[in-house]
Amino acid sequence: MGAGILLACFASYCVAFAALVTAENVWLKLFLAVVTGSSIGVLFVAGHDASHGSLTRSEVANRWLARLAFLPSAMPNETWDSEHNRQHHSWTNLTTKDPGYVPLSPEQYRQLNPWQRIWRRASFTLPGIGLAYIALWWEGGIRINPTRRDQIRSMPSYALECVLIAAFLGLQVAVVVAYGAWSSRGLGAFAAEALLCIALPFYVWCWVMAFVTILHHTHPRIRWFDSEEEWLKAPRQFTSTVHVSWPKWFSVAFLWIFSHPAHHADKRIPMYRLDVAQHKLQEGFPEHALVERGTFLHVVRVLKLCRLYDYRAHRWLDWDGRPTTESLISTGSAEAT
Ligand SMILES: [Zn+2]
Repeated sequence: MGAGILLACFASYCVAFAALVTAENVWLKLFLAVVTGSSIGVLFVAGHDASHGSLTRSEVANRWLARLAFLPSAMPNETWDSEHNRQHHSWTNLTTKDPGYVPLSPEQYRQLNPWQRIWRRASFTLPGIGLAYIALWWEGGIRINPTRRDQIRSMPSYALECVLIAAFLGLQVAVVVAYGAWSSRGLGAFAAEALLCIALPFYVWCWVMAFVTILHHTHPRIRWFDSEEEWLKAPRQFTSTVHVSWPKWFSVAFLWIFSHPAHHADKRIPMYRLDVAQHKLQEGFPEHALVERGTFLHVVRVLKLCRLYDYRAHRWLDWDGRPTTESLISTGSAEAT
C-alpha cells in the first residue's frame, strides 16, 4: 500500500508539472506552481517513510523509492538519512545535534551579521518561512561537511543520487525548452518559464517543508535544550513534538504527517497507520499528549511567539529577548504547563 501511495504521489507531481509547463495564462501558471510545489512536499512525505524503511519490507525497494520521491526536491537520500533518520530522530530538540529548525538564543542572534539577521527575521514571516529550509537543504542535504564523518555512509551512493538529481533537473529544463520551442514561445521566454515551472515550485516545496517542520517542533509549550545532560534527564520523543490536529481532508492530503508524536514514538509506523497510532498514544498517555488545533492563527502565533529561546529559563522570546511565554522549567516538561 505504501509503495502504491508513493507512486501515485509521483504521478500526481508529473501531472501537475505537465499542466504547469503547458499552461498559458500567467495567473493559472502561478496557481499551478503552488500546486506543483505542494505535490513535491506530499511526495516527500511518502519518500520520508521509504527512507525510514517503513514503506515496504524490502530495504532495496525502500531505498530506490526514497530516491525516486526525493528527485523533485533535489534531496539525496544519503544525507537525508543522516540528518533526519539518525540525527533528528536520535537527538530531537537538542540544539547541538538536531539539524532541524533550531531556535537561536538571544546571544546567538546578536552574533549574526546584519544580513543573517534579516534572513532569520524573514524566515519567521509567513511568506518567508521557505527561506529557512533553503539554508537547511543546502547545508544538510547538498553540501558535504568535512567535520562530519557520519554525514555520508556511502560516498558512491551519495554521488549516484546527486547524478540522478542533476539528470532530473536537466530533464525538467529540457521539457520546458522543448515545449517552448514547440509552442513557438521562443527562447526569450525561457528564463521566465524556468522561473515559474522549476524555481517557484522548488520554493513552494521549501515553504511546505518549513511549515511542517516548524509546526512539529516549535510551540510555546515545547522545550529545546543546548545541554546534552539536561536533555537526557527530560522526557523526550513524543513530548518534544506536537500533534497539530487539522481537518481530516488536510491531514490525509499531507499523508497523516501531522500525527507526528506517533511517528517519533516509533518511526517504523507507516504513514497510513499514524492517525490510529496517534489516537492510541493520546488515550494511553493523556498526561503527555500535546495537541493543538491546526488553524491559520496557530501558525501566525507560533511565528510570533517562538522567535528566540532562553535555554536557561526555558521559555520563548521575541527578537528583543523579551519573554513571550511562561517558563517551562517548573513542570519539567512541556505537557503539564
Ligand atoms: Zn521521520
